[in-house]
Amino acid sequence: MKFKEIYGQSEIKGKLISATKSGRVPHAQLFTSKEGAMSLPLAIAYAQYLSCTNKQEEDSCGVCSSCRKYELLAHPDLHFTFPFYGDNKTSSNDFIVEFRKTILENPLMSYSDWVEAIVGEGKNLNINIFEIRSIFKRLSLRAYESEYKVLIIWLPEFLKKEGNVLLKLVEEPPDNTIFLFVTENQSEILPTIISRTQILTIPNYNHTEIETYLVENNIIVDSGLARNIAVMAEGNLNKAVKLAGGMESPMFDVFRQWLLNCHAGNMEGIFAFTEKLSEEGKDFFKIFLIYGLHIVRATLLSNHQSANGWLTANENEFVGKLSKFIHIGNAQEIYKAFNDSIFETERYGNVKLIYINLSLKLKNSMKPLNQKAAV
Ligand SMILES: [Zn+2]
Repeated sequence: MKFKEIYGQSEIKGKLISATKSGRVPHAQLFTSKEGAMSLPLAIAYAQYLSCTNKQEEDSCGVCSSCRKYELLAHPDLHFTFPFYGDNKTSSNDFIVEFRKTILENPLMSYSDWVEAIVGEGKNLNINIFEIRSIFKRLSLRAYESEYKVLIIWLPEFLKKEGNVLLKLVEEPPDNTIFLFVTENQSEILPTIISRTQILTIPNYNHTEIETYLVENNIIVDSGLARNIAVMAEGNLNKAVKLAGGMESPMFDVFRQWLLNCHAGNMEGIFAFTEKLSEEGKDFFKIFLIYGLHIVRATLLSNHQSANGWLTANENEFVGKLSKFIHIGNAQEIYKAFNDSIFETERYGNVKLIYINLSLKLKNSMKPLNQKAAV
């Protein structure tokens, strides 16, 4: 993984590159961030740069023998430790194939993505003592090909008392061994480990960076919607991409059906939908509401343009019909109703209640322009 594959974070990359060039590479470092800051890929790119035999000014070469193995995360001097499940004879080696595959396919991989990848839902993931012993063995071998052996410990917050055993290794490291701890929850790590490491704080992405990422990668075409998602994602790029994914067309059918129920005042339909929607949970509901705002905005624009380039054909057709009922006369209250519901979902999370309230507001608001004016 090269530095250029990691979105943004240019200041951190600069620090890592200049430390490498100056030869001042601390043997134990702690990459600390919140989720969704790409800290694991940064650690991998850094390790690849350290090991590259033809280092470029700002990145590893990508083609030397070391880089080619690093691109597959299969360099013999690159070791990983991460949370997994199993009995006391299981180690991370039993999961290394899935680990490589998952992170290579999705460099934004979060802990919950990892749990999903190894079907670990409801299982007790940790880094066990057998794993620590196996690390001792792996690192006691001399480096095969590189100047450095690198051990990347992803989520060391999962090390409990085993951490003290690992600490011995960090205190008296084998020659040319570098430990890169990558945490998303620094306060959960043993203080004795923190005190032995040099800390590198990796910032979360700001709203503009997330918005740009979504638009440039064609994940979201409408920059207004991308902005909304960026704000909701709170600096977490992984979360932003997931939220954006929820905006895809399956949402359309659900939304359309619901709005038709509201418009028709079909309370039975509204209640049935409430039950169904509340099963999907709070996150889905938030995406649903944001999608709603996106359609309301498109409906207002549809008075001025025949088709909207960032909607599908079905959505455009629906929006055309909807513009009879959502218009300049009621747009403000409808906007407010959606925004209030998003706020309440974040604060209180009683999905059923919020959903019923919103449905009733829409039922009362969605009237043709002249009818509304006549009331
Ligand atoms: Zn190289």
